[in-house]
Amino acid sequence: MTARVTVAGSLNMDLVARAPRIPQPGETIIGSDFRNVPGGKGANQAVAAARLEAEVSMVGRVGGDTFAEPLLENLAADGIDHTYVTRDPEAATGVALIVVDDAGENSIVVASGANARFSPADVEAAEEALASADVLLLQLESPLETVQRAAEVARAHGAKVLLNPAPAQELPEELLSLVDALIPNETEAALLADRSVRNEEEAREAAQALLASGVETVIVTLGERGALLAQEGGVTLVPAFWVEPVDSTAAGDAFVGSFAVALAEGRALQEAVRWGNAAGALATTKIGAQPSLPTRKAVEQLLSGD
Ligand code: ADP
Repeated sequence: MTARVTVAGSLNMDLVARAPRIPQPGETIIGSDFRNVPGGKGANQAVAAARLEAEVSMVGRVGGDTFAEPLLENLAADGIDHTYVTRDPEAATGVALIVVDDAGENSIVVASGANARFSPADVEAAEEALASADVLLLQLESPLETVQRAAEVARAHGAKVLLNPAPAQELPEELLSLVDALIPNETEAALLADRSVRNEEEAREAAQALLASGVETVIVTLGERGALLAQEGGVTLVPAFWVEPVDSTAAGDAFVGSFAVALAEGRALQEAVRWGNAAGALATTKIGAQPSLPTRKAVEQLLSGD
């Protein structure tokens, strides 16, 4: 049976321009190579899961402007159901204004637009998509009350709830108690556990502190070192796959999407973390966000050591 993953979260159009350098305040500089690129953590993770051949449904909100339709078409191109992406005629679609300079540094302004109006009522209207999911994937680019409601509805129907707490912010205990697995990177783990995370030892301590705050499973992604899997019984390092990275954009989204699919397929946690590691590693070998998200075939090949 095909695994079912529902994502409740953000959709953005990334407006990306190259420039010789990031402009100073008040300065105008001539850039080049402008592109519109579909993004948003919610949509990226939905695409990551769809590339691994899960049945994916996206729940969220876009505006009434010309960016809305291309974002929906982009989801459909990967076979993602967008029945429950609300179109809001009074809002602008979420955008990220990104300048990338010649050294590869970037500066980003996110105008959340419709994402900020994604509401608990939207989630309730999408109950069917949450009820039929094996796994619900959540991030923090949506209002916290909406994230909370989605977790409640999914839990009530027996779905597993995964939260990728990005961008990081403090979380109420009532949300953490609904989460089956919390998946922060090192920066997010540091903020949530309110301690420094500069090495594996400190990441272990942060994971343990997060377990103590009421989450059953914590997975801290550690970039090229892999990921820590922390549960009541202990903390295990699941090592990364060796690749030659060219751009780490979307490694985290690839990890989360792949981990979600593996879990939805009934794999054990440690094996699901390996699936996350494989997709995360592959995402670093290509430039960009969604274009770098790997297929199931590529992930299975890396997992089997071919
Ligand atoms: P984020 O992009 O959210 O900061 P990470 O950098 O921790 O997340 O990357 C997510 C996952 O992607 C890691 O847990 C790991 O599995 C994989 N990954 C990232 N960078 C590399 C790398 N250089 N080599 C191999 N795997 C990597």
